[in-house]
Amino acid sequence: MMNMNDLAAGVFRKEVLAMSAYHVADAEGLIKLDAMENPYEWPEDLKTRWLETLRACPLNRYPDPCARRLAAAIRRSAGLDDDAPLLLGNGSDEIIQLLLMALPPDSSVLSPEPGFVMYRQLSRCLGLDYVGVPLRAEDFGLDLPAMLAAIERHRPKLIFLAYPNNPTGNLFDRAAIEAIVEKAPGLVVIDEAYEPFAGASYLGMLGRYPNLLVMRTVSKLGLAGLRLGYLAGSAELLGQLDKIRLPYNINVLTQASAEFALNHKTLFDQQTRLICAERARVFAALAAIGGIMPYPSAANFILFRTPPGRADEIFTGLKQRGILIKNLSPQGGLLADCLRVTIGKPDENQAFLFALNQSFVSSQ
Ligand code: PMP
Repeated sequence: MMNMNDLAAGVFRKEVLAMSAYHVADAEGLIKLDAMENPYEWPEDLKTRWLETLRACPLNRYPDPCARRLAAAIRRSAGLDDDAPLLLGNGSDEIIQLLLMALPPDSSVLSPEPGFVMYRQLSRCLGLDYVGVPLRAEDFGLDLPAMLAAIERHRPKLIFLAYPNNPTGNLFDRAAIEAIVEKAPGLVVIDEAYEPFAGASYLGMLGRYPNLLVMRTVSKLGLAGLRLGYLAGSAELLGQLDKIRLPYNINVLTQASAEFALNHKTLFDQQTRLICAERARVFAALAAIGGIMPYPSAANFILFRTPPGRADEIFTGLKQRGILIKNLSPQGGLLADCLRVTIGKPDENQAFLFALNQSFVSSQ
């Protein structure tokens, strides 16, 4: 009988065979502070009204392929014009994939690193030439001369800039971003996944730069389970991408639920304010622990550096005490000795800080 691995090797592209699967840690029984989710659930009365909305959803029919009502709710909530072009995706992950799928096979894709892993992962899986340009070691800012040199050398068709950046949490310098947009021979996607916590955006700049696209998600706002992202930019660019979007990529339940949620956005705004206040408190508490260095964050997480060689044991110590955060240290490079914690509810943050103090002291 044929060996299954040989069969796979003979069938699938080499890029797929070389990939490792995206790993999601098992959070069963743990306080989950690893994935930049909003920790708050909805009040019961809102849940009841949402369920009433779902009752009216016809599951026997395909969804609206253009998700018109949802798109209108997104435009309203983002302060966009009624006719602003939008492309909706099953999470912004799907939009990243769509953008990359539309490029010619030998294209270069460029992004600063450390950055969001999907840019690299999806580029490589599609056989594209991914170029990561290191951020400045001291503050994770953009290394503008290195970025401009890489643009000159590789002529990337696509550049991803996360604003704020994941996993570092900082907002890149706007003058540097604009220099990159002006120099780019192709498209620049500003990934605003963490915009709710940053209060800064490039949506207002779309008219100024034809090669600029702004991508957002509702995941971090508090709707990660729905899987919905969107891309704003010129009708011409989005029209091309729309041709390769699967016709019913936003399902009926997501369309109805996200529209409902965005029409109750004041709830998320309140939750965002709580998260930002907690971010300041957790940052100060981390900075007060000798040997731990947190990096300033405009997102709903904080990256912090542990003393050399200690990240793994601190991460494991936290897990043993019931707290799951993200260990970035195995990625090495600028992330060696780094851990990332998502901001949770005040009692979860307190439990994290308490456990961190304990794991840190016990592993000294
Ligand atoms: N962009 C960035 C910078 C992210 O950190 C993430 C999620 N971690 C995404 C995009 C993907 O978000 P979504 O849930 O919309 O697929």
